[in-house]
Amino acid sequence: MPTRAPWICGCGHKIAGGQMCPCQRRRKVAIEKSRPTARQRGYDTRWQRETTEFLAQPQNRLCACGCGRRATMVDHKIAHKGDMWLFWDRRNWQPMNRRCNSRKAASREGGFGNPIRTAKVLQ
Ligand SMILES: [Zn+2]
Ligand SMILES: [Zn+2]
Repeated sequence: MPTRAPWICGCGHKIAGGQMCPCQRRRKVAIEKSRPTARQRGYDTRWQRETTEFLAQPQNRLCACGCGRRATMVDHKIAHKGDMWLFWDRRNWQPMNRRCNSRKAASREGGFGNPIRTAKVLQ
């Protein structure tokens, strides 16, 4: 903050120069909490990398449902429901086309609290 003059926050508090209003601090904490954790971000990066690699293998080029379309994402055969073993176990992975997968989507597990994430690999 370039100026050190006292200021009035939108909530009506008068705040000393260079300080934060308690309401701003509360909002900041709320934002931090809603942000994905470093751990989740790490998983995301790993998921991108590993699924890209998986789909690059010749036997995983086509959608597992037999439609003949190119696979654009990885689907879990058994819904992992947050189970990290199932999530990362490649025996539980199958290549799928995004359209075929979205047909399945209604009954789908909820990813990392972000159910559409898996559908975004390699559009
Ligand atoms: Zn305030
Ligand atoms: Zn298909």
